[in-house]
Amino acid sequence: MSGTNQRIDPARLWDALMAMAEIGATPKGGVKRLTLTEVDLAGRRRFTAWCEAAGLTVRHDSMGNIFARRPGRDPARKPVLFGSHLDSQPTGGKFDGALGVIAGLEVMRTLQALDIQTEAPLELVNWTDEEGSRFGHSLMGSGVWSGVYDQAETYGLRDTEGVSVVEALEGIGYRGEVPAAPFEADSYFELHIEQGPILEREGARIGIVTGGQAQVWYEAVLTGQDAHAGTTPPSTRRDALVGAARIVALVDELMRARGEEGRGTVGRLQVFPNSCNVVPGEVRFSVEFRHPSGAEIEALAAGFPARAGAIAREAGLSLELRELFRIPAQPFDADCVDLVRQAAARLGLPAREIISGAGHDAIYVARRVPSAMIFTPCKDGLSHNEAESILPDEAADGCQVLFEAILARANRAI
Ligand SMILES: [Zn+2]
Repeated sequence: MSGTNQRIDPARLWDALMAMAEIGATPKGGVKRLTLTEVDLAGRRRFTAWCEAAGLTVRHDSMGNIFARRPGRDPARKPVLFGSHLDSQPTGGKFDGALGVIAGLEVMRTLQALDIQTEAPLELVNWTDEEGSRFGHSLMGSGVWSGVYDQAETYGLRDTEGVSVVEALEGIGYRGEVPAAPFEADSYFELHIEQGPILEREGARIGIVTGGQAQVWYEAVLTGQDAHAGTTPPSTRRDALVGAARIVALVDELMRARGEEGRGTVGRLQVFPNSCNVVPGEVRFSVEFRHPSGAEIEALAAGFPARAGAIAREAGLSLELRELFRIPAQPFDADCVDLVRQAAARLGLPAREIISGAGHDAIYVARRVPSAMIFTPCKDGLSHNEAESILPDEAADGCQVLFEAILARANRAI
């Protein structure tokens, strides 16, 4: 046996994952635990009861983020944070988010069972509304906590029923008194499923996540002219969908020019009037690019609008292209990443470095606190899907790496 001789309990971890998955369980084996609903509340209650039984002191802030604290030996030290999110997509899986929270709980339970005291205090976090599927704003709790989002604006966001975030928080009794704001913390660690195919494809057991990608998102409106499909000759057509198709091809071309690390997607497209015998006069669509290198995203942001505009002009169309936001690449903290790397090496687990393709709470928290993430493989890279699946051994390995990284950080000489 390598690594430390202190081991998390794989069966206890798996049982807790399955017990959490009962809350909001769907017939197809997934989970529907939408943020700030009665189902979310049931999850929060079960989680809180487990934390209290493990001797932790539980509190929540004004965004409903839950913190469960275990004291350290040295009261002057700042806490080591770790966690993820318990909310899910409407047709979500059992592990997206829940793995990081429940593995964090298993770390706490192991420390309690083995009677281990750390130098620094530890705090397990459940961030509110990571998914963004109810109020349209992902990474909400961690975003407000990190100062990326304004709390007053966030409180005013409404779901499709007209319920606001603040009403939903009050509805389940989770609008806390303490403002959601970055407090002094030593570090933050998050274990998460990869939600992509790379680790599985390469036989890696652990992803050492080095950071999050840079992104730029656009909203595009192409305008031409509605015309009769049977009577309008090519010379007089101003077909907005033909223009959109060429821009979609451009997005794909720009992505592929950047090799396997490039990402470029048109995921939503609306055609007007959307009638089979009318030349489409208007098309609205989304465009997003992502890349680990901020310089590549800057180059895309500098070049894409002009090339898309030229395509529109050639087709006799006008293009309105609005940049929605640009997110810089977010590298994780080198020392924290190194603790993950060392833990995987000590345990003899095949590991590789990886960039997070998806957004995660850690990417916002990293703006305020030295952070790192650990990925585990998930079957066929499938996530945001009820069939999302991981093996008990994969969960246990990820949890053991989390345990060792947290222990090393909390006990380091300062
Ligand atoms: Zn997640």
